[in-house]
Amino acid sequence: MQDCTDVFARLSEYLDRELPGATCEEIEKHIAACAPCVQFVESLKKSIHLTHGLTPEDPLPPIPEELKQKLRRAFDDGARRRGK
Ligand SMILES: [Zn+2]
Repeated sequence: MQDCTDVFARLSEYLDRELPGATCEEIEKHIAACAPCVQFVESLKKSIHLTHGLTPEDPLPPIPEELKQKLRRAFDDGARRRGK
């Protein structure tokens, strides 16, 4: 899994922990090595934590569908601007 778009396509499943361990590892490996993805995931986590009034140490709660769709649109726009 090398492409940011692939990662994002599975990101909501990943964050909901619906993916098999091997797939999660691939996503984590990509994210760890990809600056735009690091930024994206960090801001995603931050906004979720803020929404729920949690500290960054708390585990992520399930992501509301509305927020997922908002993020998907934002990511698609970003991918398009990068010419993908
Ligand atoms: Zn990436």
